[in-house]
Amino acid sequence: IFSAVEMAPRDPILGLNESFNADTRDFKVNLGVGVYFNDEGKIPLLAAVKSAEQVRLAAQPPRGYQAIEGNPAYNTGVQNLLFGTESELTAAGRVVTAQALGGTGALRIGGDFLQRLNPNATVYISNPSWENHRAIFEAAGFKVGDYPYYDAATRGVDFAAMKAFLLGLEAGSIIILHACCHNPTGADLSDAQWAEVVEACRERGLVPFLDMAYQGFAEGISEDSVAVNAFAASGLQFLISSSFSKSFSLYGERVGALSIITSSKEESGRVLSQLKRVIRTNYSNPPIHGGAVVAAVLASPELRAMWEEELGGMRVRIRSMRSGLVEKLAARGVAQDFSFVTQQRGMFSYTGLTADQVEVLRAEHGIYAVSTGRICLAALNNKNIDYVADAIAKVL
Ligand code: PMP
Repeated sequence: IFSAVEMAPRDPILGLNESFNADTRDFKVNLGVGVYFNDEGKIPLLAAVKSAEQVRLAAQPPRGYQAIEGNPAYNTGVQNLLFGTESELTAAGRVVTAQALGGTGALRIGGDFLQRLNPNATVYISNPSWENHRAIFEAAGFKVGDYPYYDAATRGVDFAAMKAFLLGLEAGSIIILHACCHNPTGADLSDAQWAEVVEACRERGLVPFLDMAYQGFAEGISEDSVAVNAFAASGLQFLISSSFSKSFSLYGERVGALSIITSSKEESGRVLSQLKRVIRTNYSNPPIHGGAVVAAVLASPELRAMWEEELGGMRVRIRSMRSGLVEKLAARGVAQDFSFVTQQRGMFSYTGLTADQVEVLRAEHGIYAVSTGRICLAALNNKNIDYVADAIAKVL
């Protein structure tokens, strides 16, 4: 049966992890994967999460099946995080939310749902984008193209090219937008540019699909909703995938959600009925634990405040690693100006390191980065930052 099965290429990022784990050098550093580590180099268990888990454990809840669309308290919590508690959209019943298996699962059920609606549409992702975007939408059956985004010369967004491209697209094209903390470049749109993207989507009849994987990592929960708010105020229909992998440090619990913004409550009912069919044939219904924990944190004013503070702590630590790396490179006599690293937002930096330089970092220094030059600043800490700065200075 399997004799003709060919070896598939390794996942570019998770494959890097496998190589890192197999590396026996004790000074090795993994800057490849998108995970937040604390200053001790550990994935934190947030105090708000721990507290909600203790209550849950003590209550010894039964483990029946959840509804196909997941935990209603969780889904409401997701909507409140995205739109605030006073939103007209949610009050009007225009938001359908389903708990999903991480941000990836949300993107995939969104893709499967859209595929049934319009199988011939093309999906456009930013150039560059998170590696899995293309694969997810191709797996859902779409043709995937890309829109201009990053400009290596300015280390920012080539917004003129992006906008012109969007304005040339066929109606019904699906466009995947990073709501904040663009992965991999760390370059985000300004508020004014978001307003222009919304208008381009309206003018061309595009289907906007916002990917919100890092809410709270740029400026804060409500500050990072600029893109969501701009679309919410537009009256357009759109989709949002949410991931709490990073913001709650719950990676392996697979906690995410898909929200679909419709034009009416009546339309929401029809959309949810079809989305449930997609979910039922994928994994039937989502797991309980992660969603219950997030719902409990979001519903309790104390735990919510504790969480936002911890999230703020992660954000601040990443920023200090950004400025630390820039200072340390300069102190080592690196001529190139790396100050752009402090302007980028979220966990990642597109450093401009070439694939060859990344390979030397790995082979000679045990430092793992993505071959595109993307590094995860959240993997730096006060113990490894000098070593990393030394090595980068050498390969440059
Ligand atoms: N979208 C983007 C832009 C991401 O960076 C990630 C995580 N690396 C995801 C979605 C997927 O998140 P999750 O791990 O929750 O599936």
